[in-house]
Amino acid sequence: MVEQIENNAKQNVSPFVRDIMTHGAVTASEELSVAEVITIMNKSRVGATVVVKDDGSVSGIFTERDLLMKMNDTGFDAKRTKVSMVMTSGPKTIDADARLSTLWPQINEWGFRHIPVVADGALVGMLSMRDVFRLRLWNMETQLDQEIRSLQQLRSLLHLDTDERAKELLRINERLSQLALTDDLTGLYNHRYLMRRLQEEVSRSQRSKTTLSLLFVDIDRFKRVNDAHGHAAGDQVLRGFANIMRNTVEGGSVLARVRRHDVVARYGGEEFALLLPMTDTEAAMVVAERVRAAVESTPIPFNDGRQVTVTVSIGVATLPIHGSNEEGLLAAADEALYRAKRAGRNQITHAREHRSNR
Ligand code: GH3
Ligand code: MG
Ligand code: MG
Repeated sequence: MVEQIENNAKQNVSPFVRDIMTHGAVTASEELSVAEVITIMNKSRVGATVVVKDDGSVSGIFTERDLLMKMNDTGFDAKRTKVSMVMTSGPKTIDADARLSTLWPQINEWGFRHIPVVADGALVGMLSMRDVFRLRLWNMETQLDQEIRSLQQLRSLLHLDTDERAKELLRINERLSQLALTDDLTGLYNHRYLMRRLQEEVSRSQRSKTTLSLLFVDIDRFKRVNDAHGHAAGDQVLRGFANIMRNTVEGGSVLARVRRHDVVARYGGEEFALLLPMTDTEAAMVVAERVRAAVESTPIPFNDGRQVTVTVSIGVATLPIHGSNEEGLLAAADEALYRAKRAGRNQITHAREHRSNR
């Protein structure tokens, strides 16, 4: 990943930290206890808090990782321990107006996943590895677009006067479609394809007054898999996971509703999506349960013979009852997924009915 970002930074103009950071950061006073800070983090749904002094200046950062490390200590009492004793003190901050490429070696050396961002000495946001990851995806898409364009040019230059050239053309054509539609790691449909299909299917179901269900499937505590076995093993697990999704949805004959035009896609990272046309919430919940149960009961092999079992949380939303357009449907599925996580993970939640027709 590091090389990727460095390469991307060389090829594209490196962005400013301000452009990719998460604006705003959750802060907590250094006088609070670990337990109090965890409550704040849970409420605000963040994995890291900036710990600040009385005068508002950054004192350090407290992350879920700090907590996990501490929990192993015997006698650790979250209520009695001040967050300032447990946080990663520093303060290590980066400037909002710096370019990411110039900061990258430093960030990498620190090895932090969350770094407070300051402008004119004041805290303005947080740079997380998730932000960097999004940038990486975006860069990869840009490169892909360029590659597709150059292949398209090549295609138009080819003359179809010999058999061999015709075959070559076919190969290029096939590769083009493949590149544009699928995710490299898992071979599932990619984000771009999902969004395109979502647009089409939403219009279709609006026109024909049929239901359309969207499922967000997010692996529970996937960070732990990476932390325990390494990122490469994590990638293998994602591939194995994609196979379970594929087999469950496409191979399942339990429900006649699971059909050829259903879309199984990698939404990004360890988040997947299922788009089920002409499927109401009840049927979508059945599919979701099939996926959930299959994942829970299928160990995924990695690194010659080792294996890990993961669970998923799933959010289900149906057009038109949970949302009336693309945005509404995406937001509803996301919100449902969030509630499934909050309710303890390894479970399915459907969205709440929306009142106003947006
Ligand atoms: P939660 O149950 O709340 O979803 O916990 P989580 O750890 O799964 O969630 P979080 O979103 O905090 O972390 C997702 C992790 O997934 C962090 C990131 O390193 C990892 N991840 C995302 N994409 C990839 C990938 O392509 N390969 C690997 N190995 N890991 C990835
Ligand atoms: Mg997850
Ligand atoms: Mg996630």
